[in-house]
Amino acid sequence: MAKINSVLGPISPDDLGITLAHEHIIAGYAGWECDALSRPYNREKIVNICLKALMPVKEFGVRSIVDATPNDLGRDVEVMKEVSEKLQVNIICATGMYTEEQGKWAYLKQRSRARIGDMATELYDTYLHELTKGIGGSGVKAGVIKVATGLNKIGECEMASLRAAARAQKETGVPIITHTEGGTMGPEQVDVLLTEGADPDKIQCGHMCGNPSLEYQLSVLKKGVNIAFDRFGIEYFLPDSVRTANLISLLQQGYANRILLSQDFISCGFGRGGSIPAEDVKLFVNWSFTNIFRNIIPALKKEGITEQQIHIMIVDNPRRLFS
Ligand SMILES: [Zn+2]
Repeated sequence: MAKINSVLGPISPDDLGITLAHEHIIAGYAGWECDALSRPYNREKIVNICLKALMPVKEFGVRSIVDATPNDLGRDVEVMKEVSEKLQVNIICATGMYTEEQGKWAYLKQRSRARIGDMATELYDTYLHELTKGIGGSGVKAGVIKVATGLNKIGECEMASLRAAARAQKETGVPIITHTEGGTMGPEQVDVLLTEGADPDKIQCGHMCGNPSLEYQLSVLKKGVNIAFDRFGIEYFLPDSVRTANLISLLQQGYANRILLSQDFISCGFGRGGSIPAEDVKLFVNWSFTNIFRNIIPALKKEGITEQQIHIMIVDNPRRLFS
């Protein structure tokens, strides 16, 4: 059976168990390190903050977490290693790049403009290296590829990343998980990946619950890929009630075997702290690593969704994605 790279070494798909499909142990928007008032980087403190936020997942039997933090969003595999060891939960980390607007693209753009390097090729080199040889000197290998696209468009850099991801996936067989912005570009993003030869079974098109339209979600599902309802609790964009109603409708249409669940929670963010405006705090009250267990799954059950359908989404689908 195929092995999965976790931050503590290889595991088998059967070791995954209940899996959160898209979360962030730590993350920081590019530039936090330029802010003189950012909290100093203190590894011990950071690990403790993460452990405190993550500990409640144990109560719900979570055995694995896919950390979707790309290379340019504050990814820190040393922290992930320590957290995984202390929490005794598998963490699978990503190789990949964030959106053109919010990621760290200056270096690759410059090389491409100066015609020193082709962006898609250089990204492919990085993705493949981190999947097969490891991340820096950490000894940790990435277990998934993360790609991202912007609001209403796929930028030049994002396109290069999609092409590089498809190519690296063909060689390694690892899943590709995606970020879509504001509930847009899911179908277009998937089209690029499929045109470039990615395996639809191993694509998880992310943040699909960010669009209230069922037609949008169905248009992606019809391409044969998996989708993630992975932002439960971020009611700033859409209330959980809308996400839940759409999820129920898709489940009633027989799509349990194509949907993964998560929250896109961040246990520790870099910078000064306080990224949620005071007047919006109420739109994040349920946002945590356990919202789906405390609120969403009970709401699904009330509407007749079965234990088996839930098991498929949180256990079987992640195992299949990584097999
Ligand atoms: Zn995310």
